[in-house]
Amino acid sequence: MRDFTLDIYKKLISAAQNGGYRLIGYDDFATNKFPSEKVYILRHDVDAIPFNSVATAKTESEIGARGTYYFRIVKQSNVPKAIEAIANLGHEIGYHYEDLALQHGNYERAYEEFQNNLAYFRKYYPVNTICMHGSPMSKWDNRKIWERFDYKKHGIIAEPYFDTDFRNVLYITDTSRRWNGDKYSVRDKVNGLQANFSKTAELIKLLEDQMLPNTIMQNIHPQRWTNDFVSWTSELILQNIKNKIKQVIAK
Ligand SMILES: [Zn+2]
Repeated sequence: MRDFTLDIYKKLISAAQNGGYRLIGYDDFATNKFPSEKVYILRHDVDAIPFNSVATAKTESEIGARGTYYFRIVKQSNVPKAIEAIANLGHEIGYHYEDLALQHGNYERAYEEFQNNLAYFRKYYPVNTICMHGSPMSKWDNRKIWERFDYKKHGIIAEPYFDTDFRNVLYITDTSRRWNGDKYSVRDKVNGLQANFSKTAELIKLLEDQMLPNTIMQNIHPQRWTNDFVSWTSELILQNIKNKIKQVIAK
């Protein structure tokens, strides 16, 4: 079975559910909505190809799961029909901010744009969580804007990189098109619990065997999860090139 298809994604989230986890959005976690349950946070960074996110959102809704979709302001992510479709399924919409990189390190302008963009996404959903976009090719780390300003002034209750205690939450991400892609990742990494696997089939097995911690945050980029062979192959080739570049930057 090919990895990173919608078919294997469905197997993955079903395995989490069968392993006793409740599949929730990041807002549910941040508000501690299910305090006495095993929870599996479904986070999605919609970096590009937003209709692939509509597909994962539908797949999740089919099994009664809820997740969070972080949209960027740039046109390859920000497509109103996709945002509306995902919000209508009951998932959380959040803002995947990159204002500092887009404004080339101008903090004042970035903060102004952050507020404008947040207001824009709130036309579609009452956004109350945000998450940085890694901008691996940019020298600006988007999180640094919060050294000078405070997102909590804007009705934002949580940002995963600041408001999650990863000593108690296992963080798993498909960044770089492999699980545990730490050495390829420029910014999408945390200090905390670790699990050892690189293929989705291995993750499914660990979930089925109940070998993982009680709280997990899974982050995926739905652009790479597709059954369509042509776009699946182009994502594979493109990511191999990107990983070579990112491996150099990460060092
Ligand atoms: Zn991103």
